[in-house]
Amino acid sequence: MAETKTTYCRICEATCGLVATVENGRVVSLAPDPEHVASRGYACKKGLAQHRVLHSPDRLLHPQKRIGDRWQRISWEQALEEIGAKVKSLVAAHGGDSVSFYLGNPISQPVRDRGLLVQYFDGGVLMQESDGSIVLAPLGREKAAEIGIDTTPVDGSGLPTFDESMFYEIGNPNPQGDPAATGKKWIEVSLSQQQLWAYQGSTLVSTSLVSTGIEPNHTEQGWFHVRYKLEKTDMQGITDANGQVIALGEQEDNSGGTPYDVKDVPHVMYFDYDAEALHGAYWHNNFGTPMSHGCVNLPLDFATWLFDWAPLGTVVWVHA
Ligand code: SF4
Repeated sequence: MAETKTTYCRICEATCGLVATVENGRVVSLAPDPEHVASRGYACKKGLAQHRVLHSPDRLLHPQKRIGDRWQRISWEQALEEIGAKVKSLVAAHGGDSVSFYLGNPISQPVRDRGLLVQYFDGGVLMQESDGSIVLAPLGREKAAEIGIDTTPVDGSGLPTFDESMFYEIGNPNPQGDPAATGKKWIEVSLSQQQLWAYQGSTLVSTSLVSTGIEPNHTEQGWFHVRYKLEKTDMQGITDANGQVIALGEQEDNSGGTPYDVKDVPHVMYFDYDAEALHGAYWHNNFGTPMSHGCVNLPLDFATWLFDWAPLGTVVWVHA
């Protein structure tokens, strides 16, 4: 069932208002928003074609490393490690000014403000000082002063020294490898083996059987990140006569489909933009067999541990 959502284009500083038509979680068309306060029904062809980029089969979804005259797919971990090592070596050899960062597209043209030339970004303001140097506006400090938050440093002399043991730890139900291993945390899910492995660096820390999407609802394959965590949430949607999920969330059903509403789903970690998540499942104990609408169902004790163990941004690799 198609639905429309109001959004805006982020390509350039005009930030034109758009209306997106979404079907089964995919943007199928974009139109200028006549109600937008600034763009008032205008958008250029770049903005109106963005959904083709979003869903293009040619869109790069994985890091590619140039080896000679060809490109080779590598893992996010390898890419980040190699880029980090390169940046460190550049700073060591040429100093901090040898590296610059891209803040994204501005949402304003350069304008005069505060007596300086400034340019606004999503969540940041760059200011050009009178000597030509560029600095970030201290938005946090300014906002605190504006709403009257006292930012005077507190006396920290009575605070205990940080120690991991001060924090409550959820027990690992299936410990593997060295529990003191170091390195980046990442999660691997195999659809054919219906199994999940949790790694720290190259050390396997824990593993569990899982239940991923059952036909006709596939769990999306690829490299993702934990992007949203909820201790508990309700999961609603609508399935068609074949059992395929055709809508997500709480909405009126005009399709003749079958609504579902699963209450209090525990330890939910969304990892892709099809609203698929790693989460505990209390309604079955058939792990090792596909059972879900596309999410990765976990045994409750394992879900509790994984939720505590994996921070936002943890890499999730789902493969066949
Ligand atoms: S629709 Fe075109 S003009 Fe408007 S923000 Fe996007 S790229 Fe810029």
